[in-house]
Amino acid sequence: LLGGFRKTSDRLLGNLAGLSGARLDEATLDEIEEALIASDLGPATAARIRARLAEGQFERNLEELGIRLIVAEEIEKVLAPVARKLEVEAFPRPQVMLVIGVNGSGKTTTIAKLANLLKEQDYSVMVAAGDTFRAAAIGQLRTWAERIGVPIVSGAEGGDAAGIVFEAVKQATATGIDVLIVDTAGRLQNKRELMDELAKIHRVLGRINPAAPHDVVLVLDATTGQNALNQIEVFKEVAGVTGLVMTKLDGTARGGVLVAAAEKYGLPIHAIGVGEKVDDLRPFDANEVARIIA
Ligand code: GDP
Repeated sequence: LLGGFRKTSDRLLGNLAGLSGARLDEATLDEIEEALIASDLGPATAARIRARLAEGQFERNLEELGIRLIVAEEIEKVLAPVARKLEVEAFPRPQVMLVIGVNGSGKTTTIAKLANLLKEQDYSVMVAAGDTFRAAAIGQLRTWAERIGVPIVSGAEGGDAAGIVFEAVKQATATGIDVLIVDTAGRLQNKRELMDELAKIHRVLGRINPAAPHDVVLVLDATTGQNALNQIEVFKEVAGVTGLVMTKLDGTARGGVLVAAAEKYGLPIHAIGVGEKVDDLRPFDANEVARIIA
């Protein structure tokens, strides 16, 4: 399941391979730093690893230094503080989770996975089809909701997303639902419209419950590599992201971008997607991921 991190590791070791056995002089340290950055790990982490390698150890070669151990330790230092699962703690209920992200990132699938996980933990869950721009998105969420066995509130294609969210909160409150998960449109091509729509959803939610949305979860596709960082930037601006789920870590060699994201933004990473099935959502374990990557 964590095959993506193995590929990330292969990529990292591949980038470092030419350097094994080299003397650890300034030129080699530069090359190592570049190799780490090319593996998506982020410039600050790469610089810290370089600094640790440089700590008076110029006499020794790379194997002796155990570079992988240092890399793993530094990755874990960055990831450990952001590993934080989604907690259900809102009172009054429901806790409202807004799920945002560009089309194709795995948003709908992640909503299904989260709904399923929470249901398994005995929470009552409802989903709302707030991505009204794509008929396929509404249909897909409905199919998942039926398969998992959770209620769904949806409207017609092209309908008012904020209106659906309003209706969903009303129904969730009336039926004592613990967690309401809201799908949203992901058209980054039109930032203005996206911003207006998310702002409207925020306003409607805030009128019903000033604490809502309690979570704004950004879904990121790991296969996009460094582009995921741009998406964090944009969505932070338009929607106030409170945490991340990164998907498609089962197949990509770009998993290092998790480290770059954690280093740059420090946003909680709630879980990772490792496949297309409903139970392919894993808690994010910093130690495990660090050991696999390095
Ligand atoms: P949305 O447009 O953001 O709602 O994205 P979808 O949920 O429809 O997902 C887009 C595609 O990515 C679908 O084919 C999903 O099955 C696939 N997908 C989603 N999450 C994962 C994951 O963690 N791993 C893999 N391999 N595929 C995923």
